[in-house]
Amino acid sequence: MKSNKLLAVAACCAMVLISVSCGKEKSKVSEEQKTFEPPKASYGEKEITTTLAPIERTSKESVSDWPVADLSGDPDDSFTAEEHCYYEGDRYVIFIQKGVTVPGDTAKKIEYVMSSLEELFGMSFDYMDDPSDNNWRYLYFDKEFEDVNPDCSKVNVLITKNPHDGRVNWAMDTCAMLYEEDLQKDGSIYVAYHELAHVLQLRNAHELGQVFHEGVAEYAEWYFAQKENYRDDSLDVFSRDEDGMLSYDESEMLKDAEAAFVFENETSSGIFQRHYQYGFRFVSFLVDTYGIEVIKDICDMSLQFTFDYTRTDMIIRVLKEATSEDVFERFEKWLPEGWDQYTEECREYMRQFEEVPVSPTER
Ligand SMILES: [Zn+2]
Repeated sequence: MKSNKLLAVAACCAMVLISVSCGKEKSKVSEEQKTFEPPKASYGEKEITTTLAPIERTSKESVSDWPVADLSGDPDDSFTAEEHCYYEGDRYVIFIQKGVTVPGDTAKKIEYVMSSLEELFGMSFDYMDDPSDNNWRYLYFDKEFEDVNPDCSKVNVLITKNPHDGRVNWAMDTCAMLYEEDLQKDGSIYVAYHELAHVLQLRNAHELGQVFHEGVAEYAEWYFAQKENYRDDSLDVFSRDEDGMLSYDESEMLKDAEAAFVFENETSSGIFQRHYQYGFRFVSFLVDTYGIEVIKDICDMSLQFTFDYTRTDMIIRVLKEATSEDVFERFEKWLPEGWDQYTEECREYMRQFEEVPVSPTER
């Protein structure tokens, strides 16, 4: 069950995948990390290796023995970890990898993102039933911190160096892994929204499959980008381009949305990220049709049943029980106009971030 959770909870983000494909520098990767196949493929193109080494206890005996990050709270300050260190808040523990630099207000940002997500979805990060802890301590922190937050009652936020080797952000019910650039002053806070949305959902529901998971996370990204008015280029991939073309073929969804859901939920979509495409549309439809409460309703409903992520039939049953029997038929009807509207809104929204050309007289 626990390894299933890791397999199933893979949480990568479109923007990161795109940047990874640029293939910039190759970085130094520790031997431990090399053996780790992160869940970049979600349930997708690549089997995820979950045979990770067990955590061994070290000589450190108490929480207070580990180095604590001195985060000032000031966004203009920065903190560089000279060794692996951590910062404990009321509801989260931030673990900072050696060599990583983060802004002084990193803890405030995490708290803010978590509170904002809770408010949006009406769910709490506090709930934790049967946490699927994992050995991220081994993967990223040389086995340290084994006595910090051992019951995972708080959310673990891991901040690491980006190795630029194809690995992307991920999340599960107990933690979210972010890169140091994701929290920089002018950086991409939407990654934190995306990954922590996964954590929130997974702490409040059974595994509901890659389509629904990514849909919720993309919806959260889009919602907060608009609310807080920042640029999120990762959303471009869902819109029509200048020629009115979509990067995703919707024809199967329009023909039989339920069958297409099954296909996307059970099939690797590779670089095309089809489950993100289907998921974002589907969750946008759900919220548009049933209200934002529907996400919590679906999560609550999932807890009425026992199943794992391989049971797409059960995921569909939960979706129908929490909404309506004809939810997929309604989705087919909503899609053409509903998604065009999103595309228009998104393009209009992004226009404000286009560079304003400088007129010759101002040169
Ligand atoms: Zn994701």
